[in-house]
Amino acid sequence: MAKDYYRSLGVDKNASEDDIKKAFRTLAKKYHPDSTSEDKKVAEEKFKEISEAYEVLSDPEKRRRYDQTGSVDFGQGRQDLTWQDFSHFSDFDDLFSRFFGGSGAGDIFGGGFRNQGPDLDLAVRLKVTLSDVYYGETRTVKFRRNSICEVCNGTGAKNGKVKTCPTCGGSGQQRVVQGQGRFKMVSVTTCRTCGGTGKIPIETCQNCKGTGTIAVNDSVNVTIPKGAPDNVKIRFRGHGQSQGGRTGDLFVVLNIMDEPGITRRGNDLYITTEISFPEAALGTSVEVNLFREKIDVKIPAGTQPGEVLRVKNGGMPVMNSNSKGDLHVRVLVSVPKHLSSREKELISELGNFGQKKHSWFSR
Ligand SMILES: [Zn+2]
Ligand SMILES: [Zn+2]
Repeated sequence: MAKDYYRSLGVDKNASEDDIKKAFRTLAKKYHPDSTSEDKKVAEEKFKEISEAYEVLSDPEKRRRYDQTGSVDFGQGRQDLTWQDFSHFSDFDDLFSRFFGGSGAGDIFGGGFRNQGPDLDLAVRLKVTLSDVYYGETRTVKFRRNSICEVCNGTGAKNGKVKTCPTCGGSGQQRVVQGQGRFKMVSVTTCRTCGGTGKIPIETCQNCKGTGTIAVNDSVNVTIPKGAPDNVKIRFRGHGQSQGGRTGDLFVVLNIMDEPGITRRGNDLYITTEISFPEAALGTSVEVNLFREKIDVKIPAGTQPGEVLRVKNGGMPVMNSNSKGDLHVRVLVSVPKHLSSREKELISELGNFGQKKHSWFSR
């Protein structure tokens, strides 16, 4: 059965590119897993449907073919888009950068962007706290990179005048022959004289000394995906090194530092709290601090020293999802070091009582 992409997006056949973009944006927001109020399965199906519709209708060529034939052949190897493909975008606008090509928005490495070449990519480590990851804070990362020289437009040539590179004859590539006799290996590398452009300046640009690039200060705002694991890479397109008119990407690598008093294992968090012996024996409710949160933990009567209580969904947010890990609270029971004589009296009375009946002080 032919799919009605116009109906999927709720637009009519004469809808402009802008209308289509707008309709998709609204619907994608509605069915995005992080914001949807719909059932997850339904939302996922819906997201798939509108993504496919948008993929076709936003592309003039595909739209024309679809209008004529009522279907579009996506070609081999096409994968169905699911919201999984997008849900790792920490900020909703990042999702749209995938479609609309905005620059400066980050995505987790693996999003499928075409790369300008790994040689031009930059990596910067960003130290963050566990709390930053818990709350999904935004941090600014400052770094230096080589940007295209605006005077010569990256050519490195004065007044833009260039000639064909004599080393590679303009191909931008060099063949390097290694080894001897029968074991010769020919490898093709980027020409070192021209950096792959195939052209060199007749006279060098004064501004960049002929390199075509200028070192600049750059910065990006990194929104840490909630629940991100250590060493996750977040890509910023077009913030890498520039060379020969190409610009690579910046990868911000998260370095999550240990937080005193809180241990993380996957999405679960572990903390310790201390209560008194009567509280352990009789049960109580205590407030524990977790980052900026205060969490009520029910201590059941008869809780043993070292016992671990689980607060379901009290842990780290799970990246790409609405769920959370668990919080594990290890309960320590404090034994008083200094007692008043009245306290001593009461406790020894309790001890004597226990020997007869309840085994208060025995196992
Ligand atoms: Zn060359
Ligand atoms: Zn220049």
